[in-house]
Formats: sequence, C-alpha cells, structure tokens
Amino acid sequence: MRVVRVRYRNTIFYGTIDGQTVRPLSKDTPVEGPVPIDQALVLAPVTPTKIICLGFNYAEHAEEFAHDLPDEPVLFLKPPSAVVGPGQPIVLPPQSTHVAHEGELAVVMGRACRNVSAAEAAPYVFGYCCGNDVTARDLQKKDGQYGRAKGFDTFCPIGPWIETEVDDPGNLVLRTLVNGEVAQQSTTANMLFKPLDIVSYVSGIMTLMPGDVILTGTPSGSTAIKAGDEVRVEIERVGVLVNPVAEAEQAERAEGDEGDEESEPPLQ
Ligand code: MG
Repeated sequence: MRVVRVRYRNTIFYGTIDGQTVRPLSKDTPVEGPVPIDQALVLAPVTPTKIICLGFNYAEHAEEFAHDLPDEPVLFLKPPSAVVGPGQPIVLPPQSTHVAHEGELAVVMGRACRNVSAAEAAPYVFGYCCGNDVTARDLQKKDGQYGRAKGFDTFCPIGPWIETEVDDPGNLVLRTLVNGEVAQQSTTANMLFKPLDIVSYVSGIMTLMPGDVILTGTPSGSTAIKAGDEVRVEIERVGVLVNPVAEAEQAERAEGDEGDEESEPPLQ
C-alpha cells in the first residue's frame, strides 16, 4: 500500500494511491473519494515530531570523508521545520556556498515506540519513503556540529508516499540523480546498521512517535547542488522523490497559496 498525504480543496488528508487515484484512508475524511491525484497537492507524507539521522552509515561515504567506521550508530537531528514534500523547492540559504544532496532511505514510524529490540521493531514501523538529508557542507565543516548545516528550512525533502509493503528494507537499490545524471548509486545492503537495528537503537534513547522519521544515512557520491537543478532520489520498490533547487529570493517570489504551511496561531 502506498500512503500519500494530500491537500484537496482545503482539506488535508491521508489516502492510498493507486495509479492516478487517491482514496481517503479514514472513513472520517470529509472528502467524497476517490480523488484524481492531479487535482490534489501531494504534501510531505508525514509531519514528524523529530527527524533522526544517521551519519556515516555506509562505509563508502565514511571513507570519502576520511572518517573512521562507527562502532555504534552516529545520530543527529533535523528540525521538523526542515521537512518539505515532493516537488517543493530545496531553498539555498545565503549563509552557504556549498549545499549538497544526500539521498537516503527514510523509515516512517507508525506507533509510539520505546526500548524495543530489533526483533520486535517491525510492527512499529509504518513504512518507508525516500529522503534527502540536504546539507550545507561548508557550514558542517566550519561548525563541527550539524544543527545549522542540516537544519535549514527545506533541507529535509521526504516522499512522495509511504510504501508500507517493503519486505526487506536492507536490500534496495538507492540512486540519487541531479538533472538526470547519476550522482549516487548503492544498495541499502551496504548500510553498516540496518533499519530495524537502528529503530531499536534509537528507541533506547528517545521515544519514537507516530510519524517520526529516521534517515538511515547516505552512500558515497553526494555533490553540490545549485539553483535550477532537479534532484531525484530513487529507491527500488519504495518510490521516486523529485525536488527542484532554488535561491532564497526565487523561492520567495514563487511562494503562493499552494504552500504546505498549516498556519499555527501564536502562543499567547
Ligand atoms: Mg545524511
């Protein structure tokens, strides 16, 4: 099953996608389904409370950065405000001159989860989607910490849907293409720590909530992206996530009423 989150006539809902049609997942959705996908705006598939990321989970990427292989998963966080959906621009911040793509398999949690073993973890996982751990490489090197380099708005594209039927997430071909040229190509079989081991490890540290996302690390071949580029993350049996790249001013001009912002009232 492929689960999308869409906005259709000002209603946001989850649906299953079959070909060109979206059917509301819940009977309570105030939309008469099915809806043609081209009449809906496909949003990021979840609104996570947190995005947990792994660094150096592919030996080839660690070698590229002359980094020792980790003996435990190396974790960092991206803020939920970094999330964008398919087709939404990755906006280049003025603070950086080197922004890079990192195509990654994303684990999407379905149930709250704490202190589970790898053998127990599968029922807590809702499914898998494509992710892009966009990184300001120059700021990552300068800061020695990842908060700024990985935390800009739009630096966490995920989607286009959640694939719930992935038998073996540890054996999928993953590719990242920039303007149609292959930049990264590997298989999740090359991960040092496997998805369910990662869920177990993270759940021993922090409670994973429904909709939380774990980005499982990137293989070698991450390259700089520039305004006008199109970045495409393809994962076998999962999906294809495409995002354009834009300068900040460009993106601001293009911002219209199709954005994903769900306006939040201020605290008072
Ligand atoms: Mg990464």
